[in-house]
Amino acid sequence: MEEDGDLFGIRGFLIDAPEFGDLRGRRDGAIIIENGRISATGDYDDLRRRQRPKPVRWIERGPVAVFPGLIDCHTHLPQYSAVARGESELLPWLRQHIFPVEHEFTGPKARAEAPQFFHELARHGTTTAMVYAAIFEDSCEIGFEAAKQSGLRVILGKTMMDLGSYGQLQPKKVLSVSLLQSERLCRKWHRTEEGRLEYAFSPRFAVTCSEKLMRSAAELATRFDAYLQTHLAENREELEKVHHLYMGMGARDYTHVYEQCGLLTPKTMLGHCIHLNPREIAAIAAAHSSVAHCPTSNLFLGSGLIKLDQLLKAGIAIGLGSDVAAGPELNMWQVMRAAIDVQKARRAYEANLRPLRPSEAFYLATHGGARALGKAEVIGTLDIGKEADLIIVDLAALVPYPQDRETLGALSTEDVLALCVYRGGPHANLETYVRGKSVYRAPKFAPLS
Ligand SMILES: [Zn+2]
Repeated sequence: MEEDGDLFGIRGFLIDAPEFGDLRGRRDGAIIIENGRISATGDYDDLRRRQRPKPVRWIERGPVAVFPGLIDCHTHLPQYSAVARGESELLPWLRQHIFPVEHEFTGPKARAEAPQFFHELARHGTTTAMVYAAIFEDSCEIGFEAAKQSGLRVILGKTMMDLGSYGQLQPKKVLSVSLLQSERLCRKWHRTEEGRLEYAFSPRFAVTCSEKLMRSAAELATRFDAYLQTHLAENREELEKVHHLYMGMGARDYTHVYEQCGLLTPKTMLGHCIHLNPREIAAIAAAHSSVAHCPTSNLFLGSGLIKLDQLLKAGIAIGLGSDVAAGPELNMWQVMRAAIDVQKARRAYEANLRPLRPSEAFYLATHGGARALGKAEVIGTLDIGKEADLIIVDLAALVPYPQDRETLGALSTEDVLALCVYRGGPHANLETYVRGKSVYRAPKFAPLS
């Protein structure tokens, strides 16, 4: 990866979403990046004319849009090779397709796949990802090493499970080893690379974790001020299992199991949250925990349709997740359109629901995700002073006919965004930047000198 220098500008249609439902656009705009941060935005002509002590290197790629980098709040490193596998629901799918793949994710296989995984994230325009490794310490170690090399902003953790685990250890030993390894990984990697890499204690979910494991994971996360990530209320059969396991112990519902173990914190990311009652939604909001909505995954496994309006109304911070390999792609544009489609499907049966607009899905994949990760002050928009995590998208690659390229300049901000949400993907992603450093550039562009 070559050094991009300390001062450069990008010309393009600038689009970001500072709030849910609030879309900003600037046609023929420009953004100046200085020492990894956004130092100016404005009209291209104005910024080009402005006198500066140092010359600005300009990147002009034709009809492009410049967006904040996409944020994936929930995905699984060891599962990517098993996408689009099996047509079953969560628990049989985990047993038949996922645990065997995760079980192999160690040693040479992990070393071969991890760098490719993070490259794929960058190629898709994802600049920040919250990720589960496998249960093995080396799967997470290798993952962090690859994340470090990739230049991406990554929150990663070793998956913890001591019930029905695919590991080789005696059940009694699993818990103590899992805690020891998780703590060791956190000590080594949390807040390294000037905070670009962070640790998430990652108890998989209540079906595969004992109360002791969940309690201990929560204590460790508090001690190290690290993240927590887990799955909650994804699937009906999962709910029944959790009821069977925990309701005799005084838990009122699934969320209450996590509350009792101390897992609901302001640094907790809860994957899915589909089948929640009003008490659970209120409890998550009160704890200031966040939700990763994973619509492509929920559709693939037939898990259900999230009550997004109720979670938003409660004030819960929500981001989007690819949840690979239950989600078939790392493409966050696809995840955005699936989020829209899920609410459309609900509207077929619930007449008074409002739709999710492209601008709102885009907010969830950018500034909403940043807020859900507690990073809204640092990333998620194109505001001056923010760290320069951004992507350049080729609009010409998204229109149906070559002659349509002539009229791109006349499109509104909403039209450009809708084009990306409904047709976007790695084929149109030209460049990905994290902290002003290029972490991906489409092969058709020669390296900049
Ligand atoms: Zn998941």
